[in-house]
Amino acid sequence: MSVKSLTCIACPVGCQLEVTINGEDITVSGNACNRGPEYAVNELTNPTRVLTTTVAIKDGFLNRLPVNTNMEIPKGLLFEAMEIINKTLVVAPVKVRDVIIKDILGTGADVLASRSMSKK
Ligand code: SF4
Repeated sequence: MSVKSLTCIACPVGCQLEVTINGEDITVSGNACNRGPEYAVNELTNPTRVLTTTVAIKDGFLNRLPVNTNMEIPKGLLFEAMEIINKTLVVAPVKVRDVIIKDILGTGADVLASRSMSKK
């Protein structure tokens, strides 16, 4: 049996979870709602994150465009996804929610513009 402490990041409350792992059994306490145990199990078995970052943009009034994935992707793919995003150059104008990279790394997640950006 092992016990782990996790901070639930499923909402801004940030409950401190205590996770007890006993073979196949995972018991969670400290959660204020049912999303806590779901978060804890996913975090221990298949951790995922929404990737939020910026991408280079040409002719925009700023030189970086904020972007995010439209769904969580496996945590282990974040660095590989960043390598692709860092090699990407977008040309202004861009509208919020425009698809910048479709189906990044075959995850099914699209990288979307988080804001609009007109030409400078
Ligand atoms: S357990 Fe529920 S209330 Fe607590 S941080 Fe997670 S989602 Fe928020």
